Amino acid sequence: MTSWNLIQKARALLEKERGTVQKPWGGRISICLLYPNTYHVGMSNLGFQTIYQRFNAEDDVVCERAFLPDPEDLQEYQKTKTPLLSLESQKPLSEFDLVAFSISFENDFLNILTLMELGRIPMESDLRGEKDPLILAGGVAVFINPEPLTPFFDLFILGEGEEVVEEFLRVYRQYRTRKEVLLKRLSQVEGVYVPKFYDVTYEEDGTIKAMEPRVGVNRTVRRRWVSTLDQFPTQSSLFTKETELKQMAMVEVNRGCPRGCRFCAACFVYYPFRNRSLSLLDSLIAQALDQEGRIGLSGTALSDFPHLFSLCEQILSRQGGLALASLRIDAITPSLIGALKKGGVQSVAIAPEAGSERLRNMIKKGYTEREILSAVQTLIEHHLLQIKSYFLIGLPSETDEDVKAILTLSKKIEHEILSKRVADKKHWKLVLSINPFVPKPATPFQWVPFEEVNALKRKLKLLRHGIRGEKHMELIHDLPKWAYIQALLSRGDRRVGRMLMAAHQYQGNWEQALRRSSLNPDFFVYRWRRLDETFPWDFIDHGIPKEKLKEEYFIAMKEAGIKIDQ
Ligand code: SF4
Repeated sequence: MTSWNLIQKARALLEKERGTVQKPWGGRISICLLYPNTYHVGMSNLGFQTIYQRFNAEDDVVCERAFLPDPEDLQEYQKTKTPLLSLESQKPLSEFDLVAFSISFENDFLNILTLMELGRIPMESDLRGEKDPLILAGGVAVFINPEPLTPFFDLFILGEGEEVVEEFLRVYRQYRTRKEVLLKRLSQVEGVYVPKFYDVTYEEDGTIKAMEPRVGVNRTVRRRWVSTLDQFPTQSSLFTKETELKQMAMVEVNRGCPRGCRFCAACFVYYPFRNRSLSLLDSLIAQALDQEGRIGLSGTALSDFPHLFSLCEQILSRQGGLALASLRIDAITPSLIGALKKGGVQSVAIAPEAGSERLRNMIKKGYTEREILSAVQTLIEHHLLQIKSYFLIGLPSETDEDVKAILTLSKKIEHEILSKRVADKKHWKLVLSINPFVPKPATPFQWVPFEEVNALKRKLKLLRHGIRGEKHMELIHDLPKWAYIQALLSRGDRRVGRMLMAAHQYQGNWEQALRRSSLNPDFFVYRWRRLDETFPWDFIDHGIPKEKLKEEYFIAMKEAGIKIDQ
């Protein structure tokens, strides 16, 4: 049975969209691209939009989308027993040849299972047969560490998807009728990981003994990356008012980052640092401004784009508005901020990450207090009256003094502002965005543990108490218990897939699921990892040798005053 109500809602969403690709199915390879969160969230994801375009650029492919239904629609799906429908043609998920998930965040993993269940697709890959669609996943959360998702997927694309699509489809066209042969052939495509072709054995202490590829399968999978970004222009192609970043066209400027902050997964898993050319960006901006009046510049290291100011000027000269996610503190110059202000930017985000200089040096984000305050001064002089400042808590060796240093720094920022003759300073606001530090795979901090949840709660309390009565400051933060789950899902091996399945069966109640697990989740989250330990993600070649990460780890631990037996 199919709910007429849900079909009507899908059509209403399509009517409000521009850029939708509608293709007849006849004889084409049908792909349903899923975003494991709602339409409102997913439609602002540039990676998701890029893959939608890339698949649809092939004549013999029809790619449609599906999202996690809103709570109200979810009830309607369940009540009417409607199988999950694609947006464009409102066809059930199980009718597609391929179902591809684009996954950016570990905290969306649970939604993947909800979507498979709604789509009436057996969740575990070994329960699926020849007639079921091939289920694959890509996206940054996947190429950081796909292992907790391995029970559910036939294959993963590790790296930048645009680069792999052509080779992937070439093999798919040839062997699509025989799933086993197809998977074998696909596993030969660089960047494609077929988990069932790897056997994992464990030591008695629970760590990984070996991850052995079957005969004819590569031991390591090289993460794919686009060597010349200009080859694949990346900008918004779908527009709707029903999304987070509405009335804005996104244009991606660069990928990777030359800075190497030791906690930053984006730096290591998008290695190497690459910029688009100014001439291409100029033309992308001209096209984007035909669609929306405001350009959102995106990129891992926007501040490192050598022509950022010229780019902003170009946008302004075309009467466009501007937005960008955050700026490096030492890139905040009067001319750049002047341009942003003219482009309608009201608030700027900076990321000192730690309150004390000691910790900033340890994570390799070595700004001095003077540099931070000088950047704030520039922002204030241009009447940018909202500053968002990102901090991590739970970094290795962090003491209460380091946490209090976040307050001290914030109060110095406040003083900097209140002592200036700024007319509208009474409307000024500093938003402290506090995030528990999750040591990510493939970074120099992959060996360190996640801080105990209770310790994080206590530190948050310290911060909340410290800003009580400060009418110009606001504190926002992730909940430590969710950061714990994020750490479990990003640092776990394939056995964590069972915990994920249990959490799904307990309707998202992680506490209950973890209590009943035969494995202790703390093993994945709270443990210092041995230097010679084999990590679940070690088979991915990001182009940076593990020894290089280890060197950075040793330097960091030395600066933290933590002794590591080398
Ligand atoms: S935190 Fe920012 S500056 Fe540091 S490596 Fe990551 S992207 Fe680059």
